[in-house]
Amino acid sequence: MEKEICGKYEIIDAHAHIFPEKIAENATVSIGHFYDMPMSGCGISEKLTESGNKIGVNRYLVCSVATTPHQVNSINNFIAGECEKHKCFIGLGAMHPDSESLESDVEQILSLGLKGVKLHPDFQKFNADSLEAFRIYELIEGKLPLLIHCGDNRYDYSAPQRIANIHKNFPNLKIQAAHLGGYQRWQEALECLRGLENVWFDVSSSLAFISPETAVKMIHAYGAEKCFFGSDFPMWSHEEEFERFMKLGLSEQENKMIFAENFKNFIPVD
Ligand SMILES: [Zn+2]
Repeated sequence: MEKEICGKYEIIDAHAHIFPEKIAENATVSIGHFYDMPMSGCGISEKLTESGNKIGVNRYLVCSVATTPHQVNSINNFIAGECEKHKCFIGLGAMHPDSESLESDVEQILSLGLKGVKLHPDFQKFNADSLEAFRIYELIEGKLPLLIHCGDNRYDYSAPQRIANIHKNFPNLKIQAAHLGGYQRWQEALECLRGLENVWFDVSSSLAFISPETAVKMIHAYGAEKCFFGSDFPMWSHEEEFERFMKLGLSEQENKMIFAENFKNFIPVD
């Protein structure tokens, strides 16, 4: 990697996963199995910054998913603790639609200073536009932005149409639709999600699967001002995702917007 090329951009990694050290290895392996892909590293904070430093990442949006309701509070404490240790982290809270204490879960996220909520309907096994999930959106709309995993051919939990339904019902909820809104379901994503006012996109775990032409077409259809750079670490190393991104050949202005500027309109960072 040529240092001069990445060193000239301010970079926010808008999608990264971290896990408590004692479960990081197992968690990383099980995500690898879920997606049938080799993982690029073990998901602990130090490995994340080590990988990001290679391309000069300035800030990281970090999250961890609660696969059961009882993990919610400890994950949120963990993420907040990591943000305390790593000033370059912007932490998202975990929630689970089956939690019996959604109100206090939101209170906890706010009081810990976390900046939004991450949901992964395929891991958490709920339909993104179900009534149970609506209870979460109702509580966070206008308060906390949502990063949500989108699309998987094997399941329908996070189908692009369901993400569009969230927006339709909660127009003031800021949504970051991960993986260009459709991991594997690209065409459907474009049809359902383009032109939606409060829906943004990250390009993580997308560029490895589609041609640069398709990626550029999608970014332009959504609007370059709606897209964020992200690694989906530990899925990929930053160098890999950076190289794929630079192959798109977008304009300098678009690169700057996608690397950092757009994200600041989504979550203000100091
Ligand atoms: Zn994710």
